[in-house]
Amino acid sequence: METPNVGDKIADIDTPSMIVDLDLMEGNIKKLMDKLLPTGLDIRPHLKTTKSAILANKLAKAGAKGGCVTKVSEAEVIAAAGFDDLHITCPIVGPAKVRRLVELFRKYRQVRIVVDSEIGASAINDALAKSGIEEPILTLIDIDVGLHRTGVKPGQPAMELIKYVGGLEHLKIIGVQGYEGHLQHLHDYEDRKTQCLESMRILTSTAESFRQAGFNIQVVTTGGTGTAEFCASVPGVTELQPGSFIFMDTDYRNAVGTFYSNSLTILSTVVSKQGPRAVTIDAGLKSLTTDSGMAECSDPRYKYNEFGDEQGSLVWEEGTPDLAVGDRVMIIPSHIDPTINLHDVYYAYRGGVIEEIWPVDSRGKVQ
Ligand code: PLP
Ligand code: MN
Repeated sequence: METPNVGDKIADIDTPSMIVDLDLMEGNIKKLMDKLLPTGLDIRPHLKTTKSAILANKLAKAGAKGGCVTKVSEAEVIAAAGFDDLHITCPIVGPAKVRRLVELFRKYRQVRIVVDSEIGASAINDALAKSGIEEPILTLIDIDVGLHRTGVKPGQPAMELIKYVGGLEHLKIIGVQGYEGHLQHLHDYEDRKTQCLESMRILTSTAESFRQAGFNIQVVTTGGTGTAEFCASVPGVTELQPGSFIFMDTDYRNAVGTFYSNSLTILSTVVSKQGPRAVTIDAGLKSLTTDSGMAECSDPRYKYNEFGDEQGSLVWEEGTPDLAVGDRVMIIPSHIDPTINLHDVYYAYRGGVIEEIWPVDSRGKVQ
């Protein structure tokens, strides 16, 4: 099999391939860091987007402090690939997963977890008690700040949970997490801001009530690409978790604008002409997800539609230059995280030449 190498021209590689414009990606990282590092908050990018230890290290070099993953299996591969300052953002439940967590923690002591239930917390505590590991695992209480996905309800339920967790020898409480995922893609700036500030009020006041009850709450972690700047403006927030900003997608661009650039595209080839203003390209559902709407051609004159598993179509208005069999196009994904999960590697290029090749380490790691 012919595999592309560093130094090859993007124009020569097989398709569909996932390609990254390095200038644009580096620009996105710089824009985020320039905006958020001066706030003094820790930036802990969510690696559910890149799924890459190499990119986690690049972000750390630019000023990030650690990274987030959602699942234990992601943490396993990202840590093994060389980046182990990891916060797992989803509660870890079930005997098999808890056993995996214990083995992960045996190897990588920086790993942090969240809990949102007594059942979940006590199972992890029991497993750690049996493991012979003396050091407690750093633990945050996950608070529901409006997404209703995970997180204990604020107020009395949260207070009861932290008091319970406070009595567990192998869990060391260091903070709270509250993720306002339902707000990230709200198109109206003022609406997104107002609702985010309300979520932050819930999160920071919960943290404060925990402190008053005697708990040592150092970390208050939250935020995504669509809200990080609002979260950063709230006293009491200490850490931000944006992920998608590094590559963006059409859904995020439509919501938050073009401050960050679409730096990742799927390079595709026209394989068939289907009429005067229609062609078929080799990127379909197995190359691009459509959960957030259709992807877009980087040249907006050509409209993309999926054409089943393996192909897509491009159509255009009269007067637009024709596409012909063999032409190559770049397609911008509508939702970056699950699209990256469909690919083995990134080809990162500058000036049309591949400069770096990065594996998608945690591709398929959903457990
Ligand atoms: N934090 C958590 C808990 C998330 O689930 C996500 C994304 O879903 C993020 C942060 C990052 O958000 P984004 O990719 O929208 O920047
Ligand atoms: Mn996403």
